[in-house]
Amino acid sequence: MTVISKHIASLAESQSLAMARRVNQLRQQGVDVVSMTLGEPDFDTPMHIKQAAQQAIADNYSHYGPEKGILPLREAICKRMQGYTPEEIIVSVGAKQAICNAVMALVDEGDEVIIPTPCWVSYSEMVKIAGGTNVFVKTTADADYKLTASQLRASVTGRTKLLIVCSPNNPTGSVYTKEEIAQLVEVLKEHPDIYVISDEVYSSIMFDGTKELVSEGMRELRERVIAINGVSKTYAMTGYRIGWMACHNKEILKACTVLQGQYLTCACMVAQKAAEAALDGSQDCVEQMRCEYAKRRELAISLLNEIPDIRYITPAGAFYVFPDVSKYYGKRFCNQIITNSDDMANYLLDEAHVACVAGSAYGEDKCLRLSFATNEADITEAIKRIKNALSLLYK
Ligand code: PLP
Repeated sequence: MTVISKHIASLAESQSLAMARRVNQLRQQGVDVVSMTLGEPDFDTPMHIKQAAQQAIADNYSHYGPEKGILPLREAICKRMQGYTPEEIIVSVGAKQAICNAVMALVDEGDEVIIPTPCWVSYSEMVKIAGGTNVFVKTTADADYKLTASQLRASVTGRTKLLIVCSPNNPTGSVYTKEEIAQLVEVLKEHPDIYVISDEVYSSIMFDGTKELVSEGMRELRERVIAINGVSKTYAMTGYRIGWMACHNKEILKACTVLQGQYLTCACMVAQKAAEAALDGSQDCVEQMRCEYAKRRELAISLLNEIPDIRYITPAGAFYVFPDVSKYYGKRFCNQIITNSDDMANYLLDEAHVACVAGSAYGEDKCLRLSFATNEADITEAIKRIKNALSLLYK
């Protein structure tokens, strides 16, 4: 019998954090581990943003602020996101909190939330906090790991309240096209009580000219879409913890403002000033980082192409590639049989000293998530080690 509430007791620990802990332990023992687990930019926050944070401290941004965030920041966000007014923005402690606010504001006990998998680890846990029911819909590599209109239609029930889409996607890197979004809109038009959270935190990291955003493609559903973004991935500011929701629905905005006012007051004022400088300043740093990720993506893909019997989709965005390694399941190394993605991730860590995150964490046990938010030398070494380790497995 636990003293912990049933919703909180049901939460899972983050597998990527557990993996990071194992990597640290091994490194402390002197093992040379190459990691492709990082879920954040490996770049430093650009200098002009750091200076803005220092200036904010000097200017005494040390008091409570408005619960929705300071107006100049909300104005700066509106310049980067088309079609919103500052009243339609709520600044939070990272995109994570913005998503959690939206889920808690919308989901009642027993409401169903459709989450296409593979997906980021936290959505389902947020739904559990709200007492909702996760309805996972498995997408396939053949469909570029994207939810199809027919899958969406088949998963809707009388209890469906919310759909959470992430594009560019963590962990698959897939990005919905205009046509695919339009097809989802057609289904959602048949169900006027379903809301959509569009997680767009990787929107600045897209490749090959791709640029579609789900919230923009869903403009027709104006009152039902909540767009989520933040400065973490775009400006290498994960530790500043600034994210936001943009939404036209006054009722949702009001609920999230009250909710946030009660349990947060406001996001860190110094970090808000830094985020304002990031959004208002030159965007050259964003493009430089994007180009760097693009080069690393090419490198990672060219190396993965040399490994037999794996399959992946070329990521159109974000900084992850999600190869299917399941053809190696059932094989063994020294009497240890690899039966799933956790076994595989552990084998790679123990034998090849390469860290990656098991696909099971994201709802796809055939795959591993490799992050290319790391330097080219590490990407080369990690994938070389993976290739070698896979070649040592035998039936
Ligand atoms: N959404 C996705 C898909 C993510 O991968 C992450 C972070 O890893 C977040 C949201 C949270 O971002 P933030 O740092 O803004 O809270």
